[in-house]
Parts: sequence; C-alpha cells; structure tokens
Amino acid sequence: MGSGYRVTVLTLFPELVTEYFRTSIVGRLVERGDVVPEVVDIRDFTTDRHRSCDDAPYGGGAGMVLMAQPLAAALESVDARARHVVFPTPAGLPFVQGDAQRLAGLDGMVLICGRYEGIDQRVVDEYVDEEVSLGDYVLSSGELAAMVVMDAVYRLRDGAIRRESVVEDSFQDGLLEYPHYTRPETILGRRVPEVLLSGHHERILAWRRRKQLERTACRRPDLLQRVALSEDERVFTEEILKGEKDNGRNQGS
Ligand code: SAM
Repeated sequence: MGSGYRVTVLTLFPELVTEYFRTSIVGRLVERGDVVPEVVDIRDFTTDRHRSCDDAPYGGGAGMVLMAQPLAAALESVDARARHVVFPTPAGLPFVQGDAQRLAGLDGMVLICGRYEGIDQRVVDEYVDEEVSLGDYVLSSGELAAMVVMDAVYRLRDGAIRRESVVEDSFQDGLLEYPHYTRPETILGRRVPEVLLSGHHERILAWRRRKQLERTACRRPDLLQRVALSEDERVFTEEILKGEKDNGRNQGS
C-alpha cells in the first residue's frame, strides 16, 4: 500500500473511537502507518463557557440538535471541504459492501458522529458528500456507526488481511457466504460435511457454491436479482424459493 489512509472522526466521545483505533486489525494498520487516524472532539470548538453542543430544534419537538457552529468549526479544522465527508444516519442510503469498496479506493475520509436527534441540516448541506444508514434501526449516537463504516473499509485495503479472505466474504460476489467448519471432525454430536474432508477441490467448490445459493435464496432473495447465475443455478434457487427444496436453514449437509 502507498501512503496511509487518512481517516478523521468528529465526535463528542473521542475516548470511544480512540480505543477502537488501538485494537485488532485496525490497530496493526495504524502501527504500520497504513491507516492514519485523527479523532477530533467537537466540543473543543464550542465558543461558550459551558461548551454547549446541542440546542432545541426550531419548530419545536422532542430532543435536541447538534449545533452547526462547533461542528462546522471542527470540519474546517480538518480541511473537510477538500475531503470526502461521510455522515452515518438512519435517514441515509443503505451502506453496502459496494460502498465500502468505493470508500477503500479513496485516500481517506472524514466521518461525522451524530448525536441527539441529529445534526443541523445546514452542516450536511455545506460539507457532507454522502449520508449512509447501517440499517432500519436507530442507535443512540454515531460512534458505533462510524466504527462499522471504518471497519468495513479498512479490511478491504491492500495488506489489511489475506486477499482470499476478502474475496470469499459475503457480498463480494453478491451472495452470502457458505458455512465454515474447523477441527474436530465431530463435536456436539455433529459431523463435518463429508465433502469437506474429501480433499476433492472441485467438489468442495461446488458444495460451497450450492450452500451460498441456498442461504441467499432463503435469507436474502433480494440479492439474487443482482447476481449472474448459470441456468442450473437459476433453476436451483427458484426451487428453493418455491419451497420445492430444503430451504437452506439446515446449513450442514
Ligand atoms: N432522529 C434521528 C432519526 O430518526 O433519523 C436519529 C438520531 S440518532 C438518536 C443519533 C445519531 O446516531 C444519528 O445522528 C446518527 O449519527 C447515528 N445513528 C443512529 N442510527 C443509525 C443508523 N441506523 N445508521 C447510521 N447512523 C445511525
């Protein structure tokens, strides 16, 4: 990998995010200089003596809103206008593997962690390049969401983890991943599928592909629309969808 991926996180809880950068895969990448983290405390950019970051919403209603002034000042301090700014929010577009791949291809990003009812829309209009949602549920603040986005992105960068692991992950080829097994051959009264012990590479590949198709047809049939399937695979998944075949919930055999 060339120069490090510069990631800046704007947050009201810097300790949460700082700890993340010390841990596991991302911790190693930071040590090697492949990821260059920067955690910015939005509160450092307040101008009143109470260091206030929230205020009541115009128009009334429950909750508070993260004020534009400290957030805009924090963004200016990291040169956000010249960088790619991502705001995780439940109101964003669904964040999917393709987005992680696209963001991994940049030289870095700025992430805004929301809080309260959200952030003043004028900051979004002025600085944010994309709003992404992790799913149809509401977290109490954006730190976990930012960490999820970062994590999905880093592991796709060259040298983060073995390339084969990434290639075989769920969503990389549009399907969910097949089930995994490790030693011993029998545990909990359950045996590893025989084919995985056969040493027969092609049969193993075929079994894994079938498991991917079963799982995806059963759990995420929406994904099948976007995957190029052979005629046999199309018939196979249609049978599962119509309930004419085992629906893939029994993952083993
Ligand atoms: N009032 C907002 C709404 O209904 O869309 C929810 C605000 S939430 C309590 C506070 C912050 O958590 C958000 O601004 C966002 O940064 C983060 N957040 C919560 N749920 C999220 C999700 N599903 N995806 C991404 N970020 C989320």
